[in-house]
Amino acid sequence: MAAPRILVIEDDEDVARLERLVLERAGYDVRHAATGAEGLDLAESFRPDVVILDVGLPDISGLDVCTSLSNSNNAFVLMVSGHSREQDVLLGLGLGADDYVTKPFSGNELVARVASFLRRRERLLNRKEGEAQLEFGDTRLDRNFHTLVRDGKSVALTALEFRLLWFLAEAEGRLLTRAQILEHVWNDTSGVPTRVVDVHVAALRKKISEVDAPLELSSVRGIGYRLDKK
Ligand code: CA
Repeated sequence: MAAPRILVIEDDEDVARLERLVLERAGYDVRHAATGAEGLDLAESFRPDVVILDVGLPDISGLDVCTSLSNSNNAFVLMVSGHSREQDVLLGLGLGADDYVTKPFSGNELVARVASFLRRRERLLNRKEGEAQLEFGDTRLDRNFHTLVRDGKSVALTALEFRLLWFLAEAEGRLLTRAQILEHVWNDTSGVPTRVVDVHVAALRKKISEVDAPLELSSVRGIGYRLDKK
């Protein structure tokens, strides 16, 4: 099977070299573009599975590159921002990016994000209508019984907890805002206080640990939540 294709769009040579190094070491086919225009051109011919996109590019803004990419390409986009305030702005814009990281980040973190994108894509490709189960290695979410099952251990979830965990699991590795969660899980964007999400997340964490599932439900600086496979 061909190695997944990763396109790095980054004008900082040192950052680009590091990203390329760790991604190639992880077995990916990596190309690099130093400007937005070059990146968009390369995306056309290379057809990347994942794009690592710097926000601050010398020609076109990374935000515009992201918009063009999501119109023309079905790659997952990981946006790289220079500082955390920039990340807040990005989240507020609700662009087509799939996830965000702030510099500096470790090579391991980058590889983990890319791997979770690729697993998610695999699941999306293999998804069947009305799927009854969602699997993470040896951990399984079962729709018929509303249970989380791992290695012979099983814990019952409430209907709401189940919808919440399924939504987070389908978006594995992607940061979901509280507003997105409320809209999708509660079908409500107005009446429910966002604190309600926090309460259900706490309950889910407890159940995840009851079956020792290798899942990590992290909260991201008061913005939202992300589920990662450990
Ligand atoms: Ca830059």
